[in-house]
Parts: sequence; C-alpha cells; structure tokens
Amino acid sequence: MPPAPVLNEIQQGTDMTDLAEFAREKGIKYFMISYTDLFGGQRAKLVPAQAIADMQKDGAGFAGFATWLDLTPAHPDMMALPDPSAVIQLPWKKDVAWVASNCIMSGNGALDQAPRNVLARLVAEAAELGLDIKTGVEPEFFLLSPEGTSVADTADTAVKPCYDQQAVMRRYDVIAEICDYMLELGWEAYQNDHEDANGQFEMNWKYDSAMATADKHSFFKFMTRSVAEKHGLRATFMPKPIMGLTGNGCHAHISVWTKDGKNAFADDSKELSLSDQGRHFLGGIMKHASALAAITNPTVNSYKRINAPRTTSGATWAPNSVTWTGNNRTHMVRVPGPGRFELRLPDGAVNPYLLQAVIIAAGLSGLKCKADPGKRWDIDMYAEGHKVTDAPKLPLNLLDAIRAYDADEGLKEAMGKEFSAAYIKLKTQEWNSYTSHLTQWERDNTLDI
Ligand code: ADP
Ligand code: MG
Ligand code: MG
Ligand code: MG
Ligand code: MG
Repeated sequence: MPPAPVLNEIQQGTDMTDLAEFAREKGIKYFMISYTDLFGGQRAKLVPAQAIADMQKDGAGFAGFATWLDLTPAHPDMMALPDPSAVIQLPWKKDVAWVASNCIMSGNGALDQAPRNVLARLVAEAAELGLDIKTGVEPEFFLLSPEGTSVADTADTAVKPCYDQQAVMRRYDVIAEICDYMLELGWEAYQNDHEDANGQFEMNWKYDSAMATADKHSFFKFMTRSVAEKHGLRATFMPKPIMGLTGNGCHAHISVWTKDGKNAFADDSKELSLSDQGRHFLGGIMKHASALAAITNPTVNSYKRINAPRTTSGATWAPNSVTWTGNNRTHMVRVPGPGRFELRLPDGAVNPYLLQAVIIAAGLSGLKCKADPGKRWDIDMYAEGHKVTDAPKLPLNLLDAIRAYDADEGLKEAMGKEFSAAYIKLKTQEWNSYTSHLTQWERDNTLDI
C-alpha cells in the first residue's frame, strides 16, 4: 500500500533511518508505534524489533473508532506508519524506542483529520513559500500526589513560590533526570525552574522547526509523566488543576526562517525589531485569536486559566483579551526581543501537533492578506485592561471557542475541511457530555428556588 504523497515529503529524510538496523545498533527490543488523536491522546502499539521491517513499510493496524479520530466502527483499519526521522530510544528504558507515526487509511491515503497529517500539510504549504516556521514551547506542569488532587510536596506552600530555590531542590531527582535525558537526546535543554504555583515546574529546551518541536513536545509529555510515575508522583499538564493557583500554560515562541537560514522576522529598522513579515504573521494570529482558542485551549478546564481571577501569587500570567505588546507578560502576545514573538494563550492541554498547525494556518493567512496586528498596548492588562475598548475578550468557555472556530471560515479551510468538521463535532460532543453533569453548584444555588 503506497503512502500518501504528503507523507512521503515529510518522511523523505535525506538519510532515511532503517528501523530494523536502528534496533540492532541500539539494542532495541520493542518499538512504540505512536500516533496522537484529536484530543491529544497518544496511542501506541508495542512492536517487537523482529517485526519492525514490515511495519516500517505498511504501518501498524488500529481500529480508528476506538480513539478520538471521528471514524466509525465500520471503517477499515487505520495504519500508523512510523516516521523513521522521528524515532527516539527511551532514555529511561533503553530496550524501547518511541516513533511518531502518520495515520493512513487502508488503501485510501492519509487520514486528513489526523493531527500530525494536518501539521505536515501546513509545514509543506509554508515550505512552498520558501518558509520554515520555527517554534519553542514552554510546557508547564504540576507534580501532584498519585491521586491527582493535591501538590505532592507538602512543604511547597509559599505564597510566591516562583523560582523557589528550596522547593526546586526537593524535586532535584525528578527534574535533573528529565533534563539529563533531554541533554542526552541533543535537545539543547538550558534551564529548569519552579514556576508560579505550588508544585509547578517548567523545563526549557531550544526551539526547532514546527514538526520537530511538535514531536519533542509530545515526547516531553510522555517522558515527564513516565519519570514522575517512577518517582511515585503524578505529573499533570492540566490547565487549571488547582483552583486559586496559577495554571499550566504552554507558551509558544515563533519565528519564520527563509531557505538561506535568515530569520525573516528580524528587522532592526522596525518597531520592536519585528519585520513587516513578522507583523503580518502576528496580524493573522490576532485576527483569528478567538477562533484558534478552540485549539490552543481545547478543554472545559482551559477556561479556568484564561480570563481567570487573580491567583494567590498575585497574577494569573494568562491573557484575557486579544492584545499584544513588547516585553510585558500581561498580554496575549509578547515581543520579548528581536526576531520572534511569544503567544501566551496556549495551555498544557494543547495538542502538540494542532498547536503548531494552527500557528502556521493563522500566520500564513496573515502573511497572505498583509494583516495588521492592530494597536500595541504597553499597559498592565491586569490593572488597566478596562482602557482597551477595541480588543475582543477571549472566549469565556469551550462552547464559545468552538462557535468562534466554526464561524471562522478562513481558519477552518486553512486547517482543512475534514479536520475542522471532525474537530468541531467531537469537541461539541465533549461539551455536551460536560453540561449533562448535575453539579453540587447547581444544587447549592437552585434547590430552594
Ligand atoms: P519565557 O519564560 O521568558 O517566555 P523561556 O526561556 O522559558 O522564555 O522559553 C523561550 C522559548 O523560546 C524556548 O523554547 C526558546 O528556544 C524559544 N526561542 C528563542 N528564540 C526563538 C526564536 N527565534 N524562534 C522561536 N523560538 C525561540
Ligand atoms: Mg484485535
Ligand atoms: Mg518560560
Ligand atoms: Mg512559565
Ligand atoms: Mg513564556
């Protein structure tokens, strides 16, 4: 069964890794053939090295309906075709290698709505324009007790816990283990810190091309959960796991590079050293922000992080409106320095592939129509947000966001019609499942009415 053309382009790799050979060289016994569904779930089959040669050609078979891909039980097998350029030997379990895979329908080419395929198509679209979108992500996470209800470190109680030296050292075994693995993998990890909520951490590695960053982001979540479990802890990227504390963001830093290795966003002669191309790309993000929140903030819980009341530390560090600024962390977009900008909207629940895809989709649409990002507001949005009268508020809940996405024909088209229809359908189902719950709040406020 020949793979679809777009996947060929992505899987070209000038030196295509032979996975069977890779297994012999590295002493690998099993491959995790892994794909990511529409809700960000990572699904895998464990394939013995003896069987990998055939799987590299044909893919591993899955019943797609059993995961979030908007397929029916009657659909033929969905094949996950490993991308050999995205294979990683697990640093904590050297017998096993994880390999990101692309979803193909038996005899029918790429499954259009599968997140890695959506991103592959947009990366190819950018490449046709001679552009390479490079991004870095900052996935924040909490280390909780195994049942997931409280911060595991009972001594981690400071009101302003950010950069807490004592608390980060109490988690040295976990943080250093993960950071060592990133260094071993050549990710150029460069810092680790205690974040703004009790029990919250962030680890940073160097930016890369969008597909590489999406694969690393996926693997980072898998690795962080695995290492935390090994230490008797539960790592969570949930946007707001504990009310009142700062939530888990997943900021994305974005720049665009030309084929000759030049940062097309850098121009010292322009405002904040952001080139015209950078401004237009940013303009696309601003224009589509309310709609793209359905992707960057994909869960019911996401909306307890943005538009949130002040946290116990003093600030949420999350945005509430569609505004941009210079080096100021109270807005949706910050331009921290020359040649890049930071989108602070995404949260820890974001699907790594769809995050990159929606950045490219919105950004390229901005480039095409020379979008203007609008007025730059150099104010403290938390204290002076009322002064901004012409910027949309971000969606207040998941349903608002899904509706904004559904109303944005340009973004839906850019993300792919099949993807958009499947995503809207499954996310609306999720919203309906949430609202069908009878809550204690309703009893407290309605029983005696
Ligand atoms: P902050 O917490 O100040 O927002 P971090 O240092 O935690 O910043 O994360 C910055 C991220 O931005 C990293 O992933 C880094 O590699 C990435 N980055 C730096 N320069 C660029 C660039 N030119 N293009 C894209 N990403 C970049
Ligand atoms: Mg079976
Ligand atoms: Mg950071
Ligand atoms: Mg942070
Ligand atoms: Mg940041």
